[in-house]
Amino acid sequence: MSTPNAKRLAKRVKLSEEHLITRMLNIAEGLEDVIKLGRGDPDLDTPPHIVAAGQKALAEGATHYTHPLGILPLREAIAEQIRTYGGADYAVDEIMVTPGGQHGMFVIALALLNPGDEIIVPCPGYNPYGQAAELSDAKVVKVPMGMETNFTLTAEMIEPHITERSKILVLINPNNPTGTVTAPDEVRKIAALAEKHDLIVISDEIYARLTFGNHTVQSVAALPGMKERTITLSGFSKAYAMTGWRIGYLAGPRDLITPMSEINHAFAISTAAVSQHAALAAASGPQECVEEMRATYDARRQAICAGLDRIGMSYAEPQGGFYVYADVSSLGLGITAGTFCERLLAEGKVMMYPGTIYGDHTDDFVRMSMTQPVERINEAMARMASVVETIRAESHEAAL
Ligand code: PLP
Repeated sequence: MSTPNAKRLAKRVKLSEEHLITRMLNIAEGLEDVIKLGRGDPDLDTPPHIVAAGQKALAEGATHYTHPLGILPLREAIAEQIRTYGGADYAVDEIMVTPGGQHGMFVIALALLNPGDEIIVPCPGYNPYGQAAELSDAKVVKVPMGMETNFTLTAEMIEPHITERSKILVLINPNNPTGTVTAPDEVRKIAALAEKHDLIVISDEIYARLTFGNHTVQSVAALPGMKERTITLSGFSKAYAMTGWRIGYLAGPRDLITPMSEINHAFAISTAAVSQHAALAAASGPQECVEEMRATYDARRQAICAGLDRIGMSYAEPQGGFYVYADVSSLGLGITAGTFCERLLAEGKVMMYPGTIYGDHTDDFVRMSMTQPVERINEAMARMASVVETIRAESHEAAL
C-alpha cells in the first residue's frame, strides 16, 4: 500500500516544534485566565469603516469569483498605496491579490523553485517560507542571526551562503519573530548583492507600516534596477488588523506575476470577493486607523520592555512589527527557552513561543506578541517575574 499523502507531506515538510506548540495548547486548555502573547494575531478589531464596506459589498452581491488577479479597483488602490509609502511603480497587471500573504509564499515557491534550487532565508524568520520551499524540493539555506546585529541580516552575513544554485533571497523587514528592522543602507547593500549574484528577492514588507522611533523600511523594489528581480509580499492582516479576512498581495514584474497567477488560480480561483471590497476600503479610505494601531503597539512595546528590564532579561531592540524577542539565557536559569515557555504557561498562565519555532539555531529566545492591552501586559510581566524567581530559587537549592 502506498504511503498516505499526509504522511508523505509531513516527511517532506519538517513540522518542527509542532509537538511543543501542541503541548502548550493542551496545557492552556486546562487553565483559566491565560494571557496570550503567543500568536501574531492582533487583539484589535478591524476598523469599522472597513467592516462596513465588507457588509455593504455582500448586500450588493459580492458573492462571486472575481478576476484571478483581484478586482481592478483594489489593484489600482494597492498600486497607489505602494507608491504613496515609498514603493515601486506597479501597473495593475503587476499586482496579484491572494487569500493572505502566506498563500503567496507557496505560490512563489511552486512557481519559481525547481528541485535543488536554493532559497536563502533569515534565521530566525517567518517559517512558512522554508516550508513552502521544501514542498518544491528546494534547499532552504538559513543565515543565522544574533544579537550582534540586533537580529537583522547584513549583506556580509548573506554572501558566504550564496552558491551556483542560489535562486531566491528572502528579506523580512520588519522581521518576525524578532521585531527588528534592517536599516535602509543595509537593504541597499543586500539589493546590490542580489544583483551581483542574479538572485530574485522576496521582500516581505507586511509589517512595514508598523515601525517605531525613527526606524523606517526601505522598499527593495523601489531601488534602482530592483523591480525586475523583486517580489514584494504584503497584505492587510497586520496594518489593518484583518487577519481573519485572509487577504494579501504580491507585487512584481509581469513575467513573474503571470505564471504565478496561473498557480494562484489553480489553488484558489480568486480571493474572496467580500474581503477584496473590505481591503479596497482599507487601502483607499482614511489611514488614521493605521497610525492609531501603531501608537497602541508602541505603548505596549514600551510596557514589555520596561517589564523585561525589571526582570533583568535582555532582548533585541524592537523596532517594528508587534513582537519582542527576549533572551531566556540572559537570566542564567540554566533552562532552554522551550522549557521556560512551558513552565511560564503552566505556572504563570502566560503564553509565548520559543524562537526555535522560527528556526532559531539556539534554544535561548522567546517571542512575545504585543497582542494584549498594556494592563494585561503588565500583569503578564509580573507573573513572569514570579515564575523566574521560583525557577531561580530551585536552581539555588539544587546548587546547595
Ligand atoms: N509575512 C510575515 C512576516 C508574517 O508574520 C505573516 C503572518 O504572521 C505573513 C506574512 C502572512 O500574513 P497573512 O497570510 O495573514 O497575510
